[in-house]
This record gives sequence, C-alpha cells and structure tokens, in this order.
Amino acid sequence: MNLKIGIIGVGMIGQDHIRRLTTVLAGASVVAVSDVNGAQAETVAAGIGARCYATGEALIAASEVEAIIVTSWGPTHATYVLAAIAAGKPVFCEKPLAETVEDCEAVLDAEVRHGKRLVQLGFMRRFDSQYRAMKETLRSGIIGAPLIFQSGHRNPSVPGYYTANNALTDTAVHDIDTARFLLDDEPVAISVKSPRKNSRGGALADPLLTLLDMRSGALVTIETSVNIAYAYDIRGEIIGETGVVTLAERNDVVVKANGVFSGRVPADWKERFSTAFDTEFREWIAAARAGGATGPSSWDGYVATAVTTTGVKAIASGAREPIKLRERPALYA
Ligand code: NAP
Repeated sequence: MNLKIGIIGVGMIGQDHIRRLTTVLAGASVVAVSDVNGAQAETVAAGIGARCYATGEALIAASEVEAIIVTSWGPTHATYVLAAIAAGKPVFCEKPLAETVEDCEAVLDAEVRHGKRLVQLGFMRRFDSQYRAMKETLRSGIIGAPLIFQSGHRNPSVPGYYTANNALTDTAVHDIDTARFLLDDEPVAISVKSPRKNSRGGALADPLLTLLDMRSGALVTIETSVNIAYAYDIRGEIIGETGVVTLAERNDVVVKANGVFSGRVPADWKERFSTAFDTEFREWIAAARAGGATGPSSWDGYVATAVTTTGVKAIASGAREPIKLRERPALYA
C-alpha cells in the first residue's frame, strides 16, 4: 500500500516534491494539498487527482492523510509541525523548522512528549552521495581527526530583496547543517566577516565569510557568494591530521577542445541536489511508512535556527558571538 501524503504549500518546492513523488519515486501517493493561495492549490490538486483542503490544519486532521509534507512559507512551519505531532502523523518539513529558537523548542518539547521521532527536516545534503562519501572517509580514519572544514556555497544571483541575513538563514544554513553532520560536532561560537562587496549585488554585503568554532576545537569556514554569476557551485574540503578529503568535480563527460578541457557546473541547487532530494524522499517514505522519521531531526532544525539567529547577531555586532544550545534530549542521541 502506498503511503498517503498531504502537502501544505504548493509553491516552487512543494510542486517539485509532488513531481518527484508522483513521477520519480515509488511507494507514495499525494492524496491531499493545501495552500493559502486557494486557486493554486485547486489547480495542483486537479493535476494529480488529489483533494484540496481549505487549511493546513484540516489537511492534517483528514483521516485519508497518513503523512504530511510542509513546504509553505517559513514562518508557518512550526504551527503545522506541531499539529502533525498532535495528530501522531509523520511530518517532513522543509527548512526552517521555525524562525525563532523558542518555536523550535516548542517542537522539541512536543516531540519528546510524544516519545518518538515524527519530524524530519529538509536538509537534503545529508542524502547527497558525495557528502556521504566524505563522511565515510572521515569515519574510516584515513585522514585522521578533522581540524578544519571549508565549505563554499556559490549562487549565480539572488533577488533584490535578499539581505546579508538571508545569506545565513537561507543559504549558509545548509553548510552549517553539513558541518555538524560531517564532523559530528556542535558549534559553540560564530563570527561573520565580509570583504569588499561584489559590485553585482549593489549594496548587499556579498560574499560573507562565516567562521564557526566547534566544540571539539575544529574550525568551520563558510564562504557564501550569492552573485557570483558563473554557476551554482558547492565546494567542500575537510583538512585532517594526516590527509584531506575534498568534494570531487562531478561530471558525466569532460570536453577537450580548442586547447582546454572543461566540464559542466550546475545551473542551480535543483540540478546539483536532484538525486539527493530523490534519496531524501525515498528514505523518508520508508521511515514514514513505519510511522517515524530518519536523518535530520527537530534537534538539527533547532540547532540550525539557534546558529543562524546568533549569526544574525554576529553580523550586526561584528563580534564573535557564543552560541547557546539547550541540552540534547535523549530522543535525538
Ligand atoms: P514559495 O514558492 O513561496 O511556496 C510557498 C507556498 O506556500 C506558496 O504557494 C505560499 O502561498 C504558500 N503558503 C504561505 N503561507 C501558507 C500557509 N499559512 N499555509 C499554506 N500555504 C502557505 O516558496 P518555496 O521556494 O517553495 O519555499 C517553501 C519552503 O521551502 C521555504 O521554507 C524554503 O525555505 C524551503 N526551501 C528549501 C529548499 C532546500 O534547499 N531544501 C529549497 C527551496 C525552498 P503565497 O505565495 O500565496 O504566499
């Protein structure tokens, strides 16, 4: 029997997940959708033969819905995740879990009270084969203990409303989670520096260089360049005590012509992480069918928001800001 899914928020990524669930992956059916944009929800629902619900809350309560995907606007996520936990239904939530640390903590408290994991966060890099290979390499011991992780996150361009704070909360948030995933370590402090501005971004402070001090003493640097024109390029290297591991260039072909050799750089995050999203949902479907969740948890969503919130403070102060985290509940050990 297919897992019967309801999706709240059928904008850009919600529709992409529907495409993935209905045309790429097996084991799930999208039976319900909801969106504040009712006309859009009706159109999407009609296209896949799903039922349209007037509110996210009604969709979560519907008996035909076994599991929920939240892809609405960020400030609405926590409310829907809390309602899903109250209904005892598995819920996949795109980042952020919530925009405030307090709302993230409310989700942690509710899930801990429920007694088992129901929530999975949309940090798809944890399902990327290259990052998984990097983590395996580190675990094997061949490069020794990690000392530095350097992450690069380069976007060709961003819309005019994008701010330096967005570079942390919307862009570097993925690198922050990746650092925690790869190093099995938590950040204890954050500082953010910006060099001379990229003139393509006008007044925007771009690029940003974020430094995370990790509990083990390792350092993480995150370069976010969001108007760098050439392509969407994700860089990563861990420097260990006896070696390094680096994300490889990944190409189906290398072209040699006119005295140079070249390959393709992805156009955007959808292209770069397409198979990671497929794996993410394949593993979520299996976990949700068993009544739970796998991979990135509410705890990971909470830490991400705690770090980006402190990072926004660090942008304003120009100082190294300590990151305060509550004790990790045993549920997320
Ligand atoms: P989007 O295109 O604006 O889609 C969001 C949809 O949710 C819109 O149709 C919006 O309607 C609707 N919505 C807003 N408030 C709602 C509510 N209270 N209940 C139900 N629907 C509501 O945004 P998006 O780019 O798809 O992003 C959605 C989420 O995914 C964001 O949190 C974003 O951070 C996350 N995301 C993650 C990744 C990733 O790399 N994992 C990539 C992209 C996006 P209106 O347009 O009428 O407001």
